[in-house]
Order: sequence, then C-alpha cells, then structure tokens
Amino acid sequence: MYHAPMTDTALKFSEFPYVRPDIEALTERTETLAQRLDAADSAADVSAVFPDWQELLKEVWTAESLAYIHYHQDTEDERAEAERTFFDENKPVSTQLYVRLAEKMLASPYREALEGEWGSQIFAVLQSEVSSFDPQISEAMREEGRLTKEYVSLVASARIPFRGETYNLAALGPFYESADRDTRREVQQARWGFFQQNRERLDGIFHDLTQLRDGMGRALGHENYTPLAYQRMTRTDYGPDEVACFREQVVQHVVPVATRLRKQQAERLGLDQLMFHDEPILLPEGNPKPQGGVDWQVERATEMYRAMGPELGEFFEMMVERELLDLDNRPAKSGGGFCASLPAHEVPFIFATFNGTTGDVRVLTHECGHAFQGYMSMGLPLLELRWPTAEACEIHSMGMEFLAWPAMDLFFGDKADTFRKDHMVRALQFLPYGCAIDHFQHWIYQNPGATPADRLAAWQEMERIYLPHRNYDGLVRVADGGLWQAQRHVYCSPFYYIDYALAQTGALQFWQRSLAGREAALEDYVALCKLGGSRSYLALLESANLASPFESGTLASIVADAEAWLAEQS
Ligand code: ZN
Repeated sequence: MYHAPMTDTALKFSEFPYVRPDIEALTERTETLAQRLDAADSAADVSAVFPDWQELLKEVWTAESLAYIHYHQDTEDERAEAERTFFDENKPVSTQLYVRLAEKMLASPYREALEGEWGSQIFAVLQSEVSSFDPQISEAMREEGRLTKEYVSLVASARIPFRGETYNLAALGPFYESADRDTRREVQQARWGFFQQNRERLDGIFHDLTQLRDGMGRALGHENYTPLAYQRMTRTDYGPDEVACFREQVVQHVVPVATRLRKQQAERLGLDQLMFHDEPILLPEGNPKPQGGVDWQVERATEMYRAMGPELGEFFEMMVERELLDLDNRPAKSGGGFCASLPAHEVPFIFATFNGTTGDVRVLTHECGHAFQGYMSMGLPLLELRWPTAEACEIHSMGMEFLAWPAMDLFFGDKADTFRKDHMVRALQFLPYGCAIDHFQHWIYQNPGATPADRLAAWQEMERIYLPHRNYDGLVRVADGGLWQAQRHVYCSPFYYIDYALAQTGALQFWQRSLAGREAALEDYVALCKLGGSRSYLALLESANLASPFESGTLASIVADAEAWLAEQS
C-alpha cells in the first residue's frame, strides 16, 4: 500500500496552479461514475471505480485547500475571499455528489469483497459522510460557512492600538510574556478591549451558528447537534459518554496538579497572587526565546530533522525547497497555525504566524508533525484514509513536540532545559483547559435556547471546575466569561477541541517511551505516521501500543510520571 512520494520534477508552492472546479463538469463526471456503479456485475467492476473517483477528489480537494490557504495568507485579498466563498457556497453540492457515490458503494452487493480489498475503515468513513448529510441542510451548511468566515475575518481585522503603535493579535503576543507586570496587564486590557468592543457581533455570530447547527442536528433526526457533530468528526468508536468519563479523570488527576503548578509559578515570580495576565510568564527574567528570526529557525529545524532520521530530514528539506512553509507575520494574515494537504502535488503545507516567542518553535514542530504524517501517508491509495480522525492526527503533532526535545538546544541554547520544563508544565495545564472548552460545547448544544448572557455564565462555571486557580483581576470581557470567544475552534470547528486533550495523553506516552529509548520511540512514531487514517482511532492506538485515554488508570499513570520528572528538574 505504501510507496515513497515523488519529490523530483516538483513545482514550488507559488507555481501550483489554482483552478476553480467546474461544478457542471463535476456533476457529469460523478454521474458517469454512478452509472458505472449501477452497471457493475462484479466486485472488480465496483473496485475499478475507486481510482477514478479518487482522481476527481484529488482535483477538488487540492483546489479547496489552495483557496483556504490563500485566504488565510491575506484575509483582505478580494480574489482569495471570492474563491473561499465559492467553496463555502458549493460545499452542499460537492457533499451531495460525494454522498451519491458513497451510498452506492455502501449498498453494493459486493461489499464484503470490497472490504477485503480496500479495508473496512473506508466504509466507516463513507458511512459517516452519508449519515451527516441531507439535501435539506444545504442552506444551513452554506450559512455556517459564511458565519465562520465572518468570525475569522473579524478577528483578523483587529488593529489594536498599544503604546503608540498598532498591532494585529499575533503581533501582540510577545507582550503577553513581558517580564514587566504592568506591560502584561496593559496588553491584556488592549487585547480584550477588542473583544469587548466587538462583543455584540461575536455573540451574534455565535448565536446564529448554534441555531443553525441545532437545526441541522434536528433535521437529521437527532435530539440536538451533538450526535451530528460526532458523525461529522468521524468518531466511530466512542461517544459523548466516553468523553465525559475522560473529563472526569482530568478533574480528578490533573486539575489538582495544574493548580499546584500555578502556585509554584507564583512563588517563582515572587507574586502573592498569580493573575491571568501573569500566566504566560514562567520566570522573573522572562521566558526563553528562540535565538533568531524565521529564516534562522528554519535552518535550525532543518538541522534538527536531519538528526532525527533520513525520512524526517528529507521531508523537511523538501518543505523548504518547495516553499511549503508560510511562517512570518503580515498585517492581514490570519492568526493561528494549521497544516493543509495538497493531494494533487502529494505534499502538505504549513501555515503559522511567528512572533518571536517560544510559541514559534512549538507551532512549527506541531505542524511539522501533522505535515510529516500527511507526507508519509501520501502513498496510501485512498485520500480519505491518508489523514486519520483529528484525535489521532494530534498525536502526530503533539508527539513530535516531545520527540523534538533533544534538539531544543539548537533553538534556545542554555535555556533549553527551561523550555522543556515549560513545555511539560503547559502540556499538563492544557488538559483542564481543553476539557473546559469541550464540556462548554456539550452544554452549548444541549441548550440551544440559551442567551449570550447564559453562555458567559456557563463558561464561568467551567472555569470553576477546570481552572479554579484563575483570577482575571477584573480584566474587561474575560472577567465576564468571554474568554472562549478568542478560541477559533468554538466558532469554526465545534467539538474538535477535546481531540487535543485526548491526543496529549498519546503524545505524553511517546514522551514516556522516549525516556526509555529515543530511537525506539521514533521508530514507533514513524510507523504510526505511515498508517495514516487506515484504521479508526482506538485501532491506531492499539497498533502503536498506546493506552486508550478512556481507560481508567491511563491518565493517572502519565501524570504521575510527568510530575515526578518535573520534581527532578527543580
Ligand atoms: Zn494540530
């Protein structure tokens, strides 16, 4: 199934042609494939449709990824916006075409033979697509695309005045970590001032999104949006009950540790009370910073990946050579980081917004984990199986962050130990936050009739459960329960967030393993990446000998090791 991707004779990103798909031609091609499926007399006839269908998907998905990337690269470019809008507007049409073929594949009398040839996971994926779509939700899907784009544009449009200059949100980042407490408080006031000023639009967009999503869930026969969201995420082997059980474990085993770590942080900083604006800074003299800019960090990363083995080394050199990294900050560029797939060129693309903090190194290694896995899976014949579901994908990214530890000296010099310790502290502190966002979203979609004020109060309740240490010091908007409005996933990728917390337990198991032997841990990691999405989440965990986060005891043992390691460091 696996072959190494071709990298020679390769175009650079700036040379990739963008062609807007022709919906009419797409419909005709789908119709031809549907007729072939109807006329099939053997498993071989049905099977032969897969490669031709894949060619069609490859074209459309590549164009869609390019439109998505171009838009995020410059949210004020009208042409980029028009192309992104084209895909949002036509999402229901392309989904309907996909579902038409998926239904025929699922109903095929040769299904057993097909599963023997292509594996059963592809049928689970097809089933999720079929179950989560109906033509009657088409208009709601379009509107959902419009509203999420409005949110991204609004946040990217922030031009925040701070001490005589104007910044976008990413550019404010370095001030959050300032060694000067007044600067930290002031910059948070400026940041949340933007969310306060725009609160009505932010509340409005979110209210409309919850109504739309609730309506889609009901239209498909569910009590609310949640079951549909799980289907849309292709969660085939667990449900909300298992997730609730995981959150319980976090409350029991992680929240007390995270709270203790915050107390230690306050002591280190010499503060009586750690405030929200103090949380990003670890040491009185300031956090470690990468010792150079974007190009310098790319050179260090090249060195790091070369040292991690031939596959990783070649992968990263290819990414640099073919311009598949967009890392610097520009005024109209959207914030955040992501990795996209360009299957027609058999390469991934990494998007990030560097600002000179430790976050740069974290986001680059994180997205490289995704990109490396995507690249390793390019040889899998079915596009749908190249990327697993998100909670498995985030093991590749967060696992890479830990496996990259020995190379952190390249970026941070004599501050590398501080960086590693900080990373572990953040990894543990992240778990309660990730669960708070997830629990909040379950509440949101169970209570579609809630008002904006109810939502703020519900978030404050989550903070009491998961982030009991937190003190906002009266900061505008966040003190009222508005923090989640800065979390893009809550608007754009509902229910995605728990995937980071689930994956962190997998990534931390790679960390545990790397203490026992780095080579072996890296080998296991590369093997997991090569499996792509050919199995379900729990099956992937099993194949990599990773304990499931849903089993009681998994989290407790990881946290105990992490705490012991942290105690050794101080
Ligand atoms: Zn990720």
